[in-house]
Amino acid sequence: MNAPHSCIIIGAGISGLIAAAHLKRHHVDVLLLDKGRHHGGRMATRTIDKSIFDHGAQFVTTRDPIFREMVEGWMERGIARPWYKGPLGNMRYVGVNGMSTIPRELGQDLNVHLSEKVTKIRFNNGKWTVTARKYGENKDSSYKADCLVITAPVPQALALLQTSNIQIDFDEEEELERITYFRAISVMAQLNGPAGLSNPGAMDLNHPVLRWIGDNSAKSVSPIPGSVSITSSPQFAERYWDASDEERIPLLLNAAKPFLKNDVVDAVAHRWGFTEPKRIYKEKQPFRKTYFLDEEHHLGMCGDGFGGPRIEASAMSGYALAQALTRPM
Ligand SMILES: Cc1cc2nc3c(=O)[nH]c(=O)nc-3n(C[C@H](O)[C@H](O)[C@H](O)COP(=O)(O)OP(=O)(O)OC[C@H]3O[C@@H](n4cnc5c(N)ncnc54)[C@H](O)[C@@H]3O)c2cc1C
Repeated sequence: MNAPHSCIIIGAGISGLIAAAHLKRHHVDVLLLDKGRHHGGRMATRTIDKSIFDHGAQFVTTRDPIFREMVEGWMERGIARPWYKGPLGNMRYVGVNGMSTIPRELGQDLNVHLSEKVTKIRFNNGKWTVTARKYGENKDSSYKADCLVITAPVPQALALLQTSNIQIDFDEEEELERITYFRAISVMAQLNGPAGLSNPGAMDLNHPVLRWIGDNSAKSVSPIPGSVSITSSPQFAERYWDASDEERIPLLLNAAKPFLKNDVVDAVAHRWGFTEPKRIYKEKQPFRKTYFLDEEHHLGMCGDGFGGPRIEASAMSGYALAQALTRPM
């Protein structure tokens, strides 16, 4: 058993990182555990040979003044920069050298254990015990804390709660069970020349097969011209979720062909089981909270299932939960 912490956060995506930073500012001793090899969850950047692809979230937008201030801070630190204005005239910001730069840098100031998957949680005598297994190892680690925050997409959070010995309020559980997500298949394709997409090198698409095409070299993420990220529509993902890459990659590349000037020389696919929530926590309720908090068990949940389907809303959900946790009782 490791030394006890005040709070354990499951997930070092943007909501977990923002929550942790706020808790740390209030002198809370926080440990973040993430099953992924990198910080950031869905803010993901991947290198294949020398090509670099943002293959999850593509950009950050800001509406809330508090979040705008955070993004301005990231720009001052040199980890984010403006990219271009979207169709509604709002600026789209990106991570410098890729979206994952932002969570990776935010994680530097925090106690984060990567490649550690939480498999079981228990609440006894006012304390949480979290069991986790490090990637590639066959023994478990145990961590103790007074408070537990789960930031995994809600269906995964509920699956973890099933391993615990606590029962949350029945109505709350029913509400949480209603939060489901869209899926997507993304393809990272290297062309044998520039993509030829007009400035800024990216397109939101309302297409039966495609949702997004973006040229990572035009975005100054990839040093190789023609490193293209393609994100499928939710309908395509549903239909081809269990198909082989041999079947679905050519279908996606074929749909993307009219938008691209050069030929594909290499392509790799990734399945995203959770892109954005179809419905969020207490969606229809006025003055709803953008997080879940069970004070009896010192259990919180946050992320896009509570805040809304964007990086900003996930980050603000983490921030709001951390504020609630640090508020004097
Ligand atoms: C393809 C795609 C495109 C998108 N495009 C955009 C966009 O352009 N702009 C935008 O604003 N948003 C976009 N989004 C949505 C955005 O990425 C998310 O809303 C946001 O990143 C969610 O952050 P989060 O912290 O709530 O969750 P996540 O980023 O999912 O973080 C949760 C973390 O929990 C970890 N975890 C889960 N279970 C466990 C466990 N048992 N043990 C340990 N760790 C665990 C995961 O590894 C993950 O790192 C996109 C998403 C996808 C997938």
